[in-house]
Parts: sequence; structure tokens; C-alpha cells
Amino acid sequence: MSSLIDRLVVGTLPLVPRPVVFRFARRYIAGLTLDDAVRTVRELEAEGAMSTIDVLGEAVTRREQTEATRDEYLRVLDVLSAQRLPANVSVKPTALGLSIDPKLVRENFRAICRKAAESETFLRIDMEDSPFTESTLALALELKEEFPNVGVVVQAYMRRTLRDLDRLVAARMNVRICKGIYVEPRALAYKDRQVVIENFAAIVEKHLSAGCYAGIATHDEACVQRAIATIDRLKLSPDRYEFQMLLGVDPLLRRTILAAGHRLRVYVPYGKDWYKYSVRRLKENPSIAGHTVRSILGIGPAQS
Ligand SMILES: Cc1cc2nc3c(=O)[nH]c(=O)nc-3n(C[C@H](O)[C@H](O)[C@H](O)COP(=O)(O)OP(=O)(O)OC[C@H]3O[C@@H](n4cnc5c(N)ncnc54)[C@H](O)[C@@H]3O)c2cc1C
Repeated sequence: MSSLIDRLVVGTLPLVPRPVVFRFARRYIAGLTLDDAVRTVRELEAEGAMSTIDVLGEAVTRREQTEATRDEYLRVLDVLSAQRLPANVSVKPTALGLSIDPKLVRENFRAICRKAAESETFLRIDMEDSPFTESTLALALELKEEFPNVGVVVQAYMRRTLRDLDRLVAARMNVRICKGIYVEPRALAYKDRQVVIENFAAIVEKHLSAGCYAGIATHDEACVQRAIATIDRLKLSPDRYEFQMLLGVDPLLRRTILAAGHRLRVYVPYGKDWYKYSVRRLKENPSIAGHTVRSILGIGPAQS
């Protein structure tokens, strides 16, 4: 019954006033400002975790919006460097103009990559939905030639990913491996959970066996366990890979992975454009919205 209510709550999110959605979504974002993100990075550092900072915003349509995001990333990099924070940055290509103009997105990325290179900070290009898969990989491969500290993301639900990995391995690309969050047609993406887990394991195996660095981004114990088995079999030292998790998701698993001696990085998003990101997170786990509604109505405990 409660899972039905949870799904119902998530299904009606577009009708829910944003301040209420913000209350559901608060756990997934550091806050609205860079100061909030810095505070979160420090808290995670105290736990032994590293961070990657994401300036929220995506699929923008105006050039000025992409420039504002670029400038905010430049500010983030200044602060990371000045305060010597254990963090890098993650950037969504459509926030910098991938859907507007190929020249614009390249100019914006180059400006951020130059600044990241100056402070030896790594820059991860996030992967968005399938209309952007090829252009994102091409962009990452192009930038990697000029800036070694650039990496990209691959999605285990995509049927093409094992093939894409050949190009990425050839470029010695640092790759984040995740399941993938966007709704894709079955012709492009596996729909069966077990098949996605198997593909995730195969991608981890292929990338690590080739001697390339991997960010293993999952909260799925099956994926974590399979990755650790591969790491053990290949006898990899902890500087050859890292686990990655989202802010607000399963802190117990986070602490367990860290306690076992693996490195772990948390995705720390912040900014005023929190809505789309947060709705994706709530759809991923409708019980969060359900728990919050029940706690607001005083009919059950809030999710810890
Ligand atoms: C660091 C990081 C970066 C990512 N970057 C990208 C990207 O660039 N492109 C992209 O498409 N996707 C990205 N993702 C999202 C990813 O593709 C998955 O959608 C997400 O990680 C959930 O998949 P899972 O492997 O955790 O498995 P799931 O089977 O979805 O989840 C496993 C368990 O984790 C918990 N859990 C998962 N999600 C939530 C949630 N939102 N709230 C509460 N509990 C939850 C639940 O207990 C669930 O049973 C990223 C994920 C991480 C961790």
C-alpha cells in the first residue's frame, strides 16, 4: 500500500508546489550556494570521502545561461584550489550549450578545462540522454587530447556502451561507470535490471583489465560486490579506481565501502536550478517522497 502511495506522490510531482518538492529533494543537494557545497565537501572529507561538485542546471537554451554556468565553474575551481579541498568537478554538456551550438560548448569547456589544468583538478563530463551520447563522447575524446585531466561517463543500460569503451580505452580515458538514469527506448537501452547489472560488471571488468581508471558509480550492492571481486582478482591498488555515490543516498553503504579501504567520491550538486535533478532522484526512489509526505501529514516516520 505504502509503495503505491509513494508512486502516486512521485507521479503528481509536477502539480506539487516547488517549496514542497524542495523539502522532499533537500537530501540530494548541498544547498543553493557554493558555500553550501564547500560545507558539504568538508563534512564528507571528515568521513574520509572525496567529492565532485556539480553546478545544477541542464538543457539550457540561451547562450548567456551557458556563460553564467561556465563562470560559476571557474569560481568553483578557484575555491577548490584556494581551500585545497578534496574535490573535482562534474559538468553536464547541455548546461554549457551542447544542444545550442557545437562551437559554444567547446569554448565553454575549454575555458573550464584550462582553469582545471592550472590547479591540476580533474573534470568529469556527465552523460545525459541518448540524443547526446555520441556528441558527448566525441567532445570528451577531443578535449582529452588537449587536457589529460578530463574524463567522461558511460551508462550500463545503453546497448552501445561496451563498443564505445574500445575508443575510450584507446584514449586511456578515466571513465565513470553508472547504470544510467534517463528514460530510453528499448531499442537503445536494456530494460531488464539483471541484464543492466551484468553489463555494468562487464564494463568494469573491461575497463579495469585494460589498465584504465574507473569511477564505479552505484548504490547497488550487487554491482559493488561484482566490482570488488574484479578489483581483487586484478590485484588493483586503491589508486586505480574509486567508488562513487550520490549525496543523500545510502550513507551506510558509503561508510562500509570506505571502511573496507576503497576510495569513494560523493556527487555534490548545488545551485538554484535544483528541480530537474531532484525529480530524477525522487523518481529513482519514490519512497523518499512518500516518507516525507507521511511525515508532513504526521502519519509516519520520515526517512532518515
Ligand atoms: C556519482 C554518480 C554519478 C552519476 N552520474 C550519472 C550520469 O552522468 N548520467 C546518468 O545517466 N546517470 C548518472 N548517475 C545515476 C545512475 O545512472 C543511476 O541512476 C543511480 O546511481 C541509481 O542506480 P544504482 O546503480 O544506484 O542502482 P539502483 O538499483 O537504482 O539503486 C540501488 C539502491 O540504491 C538506493 N537508491 C538508488 N537511488 C536512490 C535515490 N535516488 N534515493 C534513495 N535511494 C536510492 C536504493 O536503496 C536502491 O535500492 C550517477 C550516479 C552516481 C552514483
